[in-house]
Amino acid sequence: MAGYSYPDTQLFIDSTWQDAASGETIPVSDPATGETIGKIAKAGIADLDKALAATQSGFAKWSATSAFERARILYAAAAILRERKDKIAWIMTREQGKPLVEAAGEVMAAADIIEWFAQEARRTYGQVIPARQPNVSQITVKLPVGPVAAFTPWNFPINQVVRKLSAALAAGCSIIVKAPEETPASPAELIRAFADAGVPAGVIGLVYGVPSQISEYLIAHPVIRKITFTGSTPVGKQLASLAGLHMKRSTMELGGHAPAIVMADTDVDKAAKTLAFSKFRNAGQVCVSPTRFLVEEPAFDRFVGKFVDAAKAIKVGNGLDPQNTMGPLANERRIPALESLIADAVDHGATLATGGRRIGNSGNFFEPTVLTNVPVSARIMNEEPFGPVAIINPIADLEAAIAEANRLPFGLASYAFTASQANVHAIGTRVEAGMTTINHLGLALPEVPFGGIKDSGYGDEGGSAAIEAYLVAKFVSAAA
Ligand code: NAD
Repeated sequence: MAGYSYPDTQLFIDSTWQDAASGETIPVSDPATGETIGKIAKAGIADLDKALAATQSGFAKWSATSAFERARILYAAAAILRERKDKIAWIMTREQGKPLVEAAGEVMAAADIIEWFAQEARRTYGQVIPARQPNVSQITVKLPVGPVAAFTPWNFPINQVVRKLSAALAAGCSIIVKAPEETPASPAELIRAFADAGVPAGVIGLVYGVPSQISEYLIAHPVIRKITFTGSTPVGKQLASLAGLHMKRSTMELGGHAPAIVMADTDVDKAAKTLAFSKFRNAGQVCVSPTRFLVEEPAFDRFVGKFVDAAKAIKVGNGLDPQNTMGPLANERRIPALESLIADAVDHGATLATGGRRIGNSGNFFEPTVLTNVPVSARIMNEEPFGPVAIINPIADLEAAIAEANRLPFGLASYAFTASQANVHAIGTRVEAGMTTINHLGLALPEVPFGGIKDSGYGDEGGSAAIEAYLVAKFVSAAA
């Protein structure tokens, strides 16, 4: 697109964009072409120490800023983001691969999330607790927990940061974001919008580097009081243990393997079309992506036919071309990972109904893939594919579907299509997941809860509970 060029990304510390003290950098590549398009500053311990000192002084200022003023600045950041939507979307597509329309949607959704938390900032109510003596007043006040360390992944480069950043800022916390090295420039633009909106120096820090080195240093550091991570379950478990060791509060938004139950009483064509759209969005690199489609036997053949039609209709290619509806995988390492999961499924007796291969030999393009009749012993029935692969299996009845849905240790999103109110109730209450959406796609709006249970983590990143993760309720008892 005319007029835009892909920027190099620096660290943002104490209101200053800067190179790493060592001068070291990390290259960034375009997943659609494989070419190197830029570089990022690679933080070392000296840079982290600077960021920690800045976040400490930033916290002192920001926690003393009124909620009303914090909300005003958040609103201004949302407006700036909307103004810059086209440029930021272009940057995101270059580094992450998703179609421009999805990238622009992510920027607009981020503005929506910021405004939700701006509103929440003004509603951090405490309690008045009736006292036993007439001269005593007992209250709780909500105070910001302290400086936050946030670690975010590359699948939604802005959206994964903005939930943490806006909630922390709304609560009065300062924050150091370790954004993804694979997709660094679009989250940097998010942070630039907040800086331009007037967030004071030190309140937001942005670093990149070796993820394990940064997380080990920041989580253990006494200045940091709260950890928030989005990424895979194995890394989440490591970071949660580290947070536990250092007595830091944490929110863990981890992997999933979402079941999608389709009962024969539903409009099967609509279910197939809606769920295929959801499956292949962002090339399936979505923690809430539906993965195990459990279709009641009488509807199975029709559902598979319609789903395969939808998969075949997807136009895979460079996300900058508006004709393409699915971009490349963000990382080259996901291609061998998917190939091996698919080969293993076929070895176990699964049918490859469509797709299954890399497209071309430059860029990380992969065919929208549908596997059917996959036995539970196949790895893909147990490991998150995190790519454009759907598994469709027939099930005998609702009981069998719920048993299969709950078989895995994950519990993030779940989906269902059914016309029966009794089924809606059973699925809504018995499927073990943080979120269930039935007969439509209703997840991830700012005002609704967003989070998992079991191995998918803990803590909410949406709805009225989300800001609580960044607040402590302090009890104050005073006698007159
Ligand atoms: P990964 O586990 O290596 O990394 C996932 C993210 O965590 C990356 O952004 C990475 O930089 C970060 N990370 C890794 N080790 C870290 C550490 N020690 N400290 C701090 N951050 C660390 O996996 P990957 O190959 O990048 O992605 C594939 C898997 O990651 C998927 O199978 C999926 O389960 C998971 N994932 C989940 C989400 C999500 O939205 N929940 C997003 C991206 C990736």
